Amino acid sequence: LFITFDGPEGSGKSTQIIRLKEWLEEAGHEVVVTREPGGTDNAETLRDLLVSGDTASWSPVSECLIMNAARADHLERLIRPALAGGKTVLCDRFMDSTRAYQGGGGKLAMDDILAIERSVVGETVPDITFIFDLDPAIGLERAGKRNAHGGEDRFERKGLNYHEAVRTVFRDIATAEPDRCVLIDAAQPIDDVTSTLHKVLQSRGIP
Ligand code: C5P
Repeated sequence: LFITFDGPEGSGKSTQIIRLKEWLEEAGHEVVVTREPGGTDNAETLRDLLVSGDTASWSPVSECLIMNAARADHLERLIRPALAGGKTVLCDRFMDSTRAYQGGGGKLAMDDILAIERSVVGETVPDITFIFDLDPAIGLERAGKRNAHGGEDRFERKGLNYHEAVRTVFRDIATAEPDRCVLIDAAQPIDDVTSTLHKVLQSRGIP
């Protein structure tokens, strides 16, 4: 079982992933939690180049290619072996972030993104993707609080228009792929989000 979580910074994905891990483990799942960009040594090295570097500056097409290079390594070395071993993989961000950030935010042509995505992801499409939906103004405020002493990453310094475009793509994905994607109102209290996730999974026979 491959479950991914997508949506903006500050939408509470990581808190929900920790809770779902425990919930699924109590029901007997072997759970692997991972994230993108990152998840393997090589992919974390690429993450540092992309996300943390103060001086890092990449065009959207470069960003897309590096994200996908990281994703290819992550799939080969971690995600596919875990799934083949019968484990449940919970991944914080996956291909939908590339569509939303490099496509929506960065204005890279969606056809190009999808072509690269297909060649990297192949058959390893998530079974379920939770898309956390949140007003970018609220998300950025929450993310700002989380990163004490102004440690915001360079993606968070992009403007509100960028993040509005990101949100639009995320919402469009949820509408276009209702079998895979479930839009989650991330403005709800944390416990309500958790019970929404449980209900969605239970309606699909999980755990
Ligand atoms: O999930 P997390 O907030 O740790 O992601 C790190 C940063 O990478 C985020 O600010 C996000 O906006 C950015 N990102 C991106 N394109 C992706 C994946 C993540 O711009 N494809």
